[in-house]
Amino acid sequence: MLDERERDDLRAAMPDVLRERCGVTDLRRSFRCPSRDHDDSDPSAHYYENGHTVHCFGCGKTWDVFSLLGELDGIDSFPEQAQAVADLIGYRLSGEDAPPKAKPKPKRKRKPRPPFDEPKPAGGADCWEAIGRAFGNLYAPGNEVGRRWLRYRCLDDDDAARWGLGFTRNPKEIMPEFNVWEPEALGYITIPFFTGKQCDAANYCMLRTISRGEVRNKEWRPKGIATPLWNEWMLSAGLSSIFVAEGLLDAMSIAKLVVDANVMALGGTANAKRFSQVLYHAPKDLRPQKVVVCMDEDDAGRKTRDRLIADLDRMGIWHATMPAYPKGCKDANDLLAMMRGREWDFEEYQGSIDAGFGPLYRTRWR
Ligand SMILES: [Zn+2]
Repeated sequence: MLDERERDDLRAAMPDVLRERCGVTDLRRSFRCPSRDHDDSDPSAHYYENGHTVHCFGCGKTWDVFSLLGELDGIDSFPEQAQAVADLIGYRLSGEDAPPKAKPKPKRKRKPRPPFDEPKPAGGADCWEAIGRAFGNLYAPGNEVGRRWLRYRCLDDDDAARWGLGFTRNPKEIMPEFNVWEPEALGYITIPFFTGKQCDAANYCMLRTISRGEVRNKEWRPKGIATPLWNEWMLSAGLSSIFVAEGLLDAMSIAKLVVDANVMALGGTANAKRFSQVLYHAPKDLRPQKVVVCMDEDDAGRKTRDRLIADLDRMGIWHATMPAYPKGCKDANDLLAMMRGREWDFEEYQGSIDAGFGPLYRTRWR
C-alpha cells in the first residue's frame, strides 16, 4: 500500500492530473465540473492549492486527486485509484502488491464549450434619463400608488432617492426592450442598475409589479442580467464587511437597519454560486474581510446560507449569519416592517419649497 510520502506526492500531482485529464492549463480560472452528474454549462469548478483539492460551486462536491480519478474513470477502490494516478504521472509505487492496472472507462464525449468569460457589463442603451423621469413620476399627482407601495414595504422618500427608485405605468418608456404584460398591474416601481465610475450611467432597469390582483411576474428584468443591487464590485474593494441578502428589498432593509452597511443582493438563491465564484477570483487582499450572510428564513434560504458559509470557510473568509429573525419574520424586510410603530415610524413633513406634490415621508427612529 501507499506510505505517507507517496500519498502526499500523488496528492500534489493534482495540477498534472487536471491538465492531462480535464485540459485545465490555467489553475486560476474556473473549469468545467468533472462530475458526470453535473451538466456544468458555466464552469464552476476550482482548484485549491492548499490541500490540492477541486471543489465545484455548482454541485457542491469536492475531490482529491484519488477521488477525482475515481470520478473520471469510474474506479471505486482506493488502491486502484492510487495506481491510476501513479500511472498517469509516471510515478513508481514501492508496494509489491500493487493492484493490476485499472482499465479506464472510455471518457464520455462532451461538446466543447466556449471558455469562461469575465462577467459582461450590463448591456442595453443608457436609460439614465428615463429613470430620472420615473423618479419624478413617483411624485406626480395620480401616481400615489407607487409611494404607497414603497411605504408599505417600509421604504421612505430618502430611500427612493438613495436607490434611484421611480414609478412608471409603461415599461417601454424605461427600456424599449421591455415586453411586459400584466393585466392587473397598477404600475411598476423602477429599480435602476447604476454603472459607471460616478454612477453616471444606468444601462438597464428592473421593474417591480404593483398589482391589485394576481401578477405574472413580481419582478421583470432583462434576461441574463443580475439584480440592480448585485454590487459585484464590493467583492474586490477591500471592504471590512459586507452584507449579502437574498432579495432586493431585503438588501435595502438591511441598509436601513444597519448604519453604513455595504449591502448587496443575490436576487435569488440561484446566484449563490456566482457569488462564490466572483469572490474566489477576487484578489485575496481585496476580498471583504467579513461577509454577513442574510438569507430568507425558509428551506431554500437556509440551504443557500449553509452553502455560502461552506464556501466562505473554504476560502478562509470570516463570516457571520444574520441572527434568527423574530417569530413570523421571513426576511429582513419583514423584520423592518415589524419594528414599525415600536422603534421607528414615518414622519410626514412639508418641503421648504411647495412643488405641489404634498408631503414627504421620512423614517423617524426612536
Ligand atoms: Zn459540479
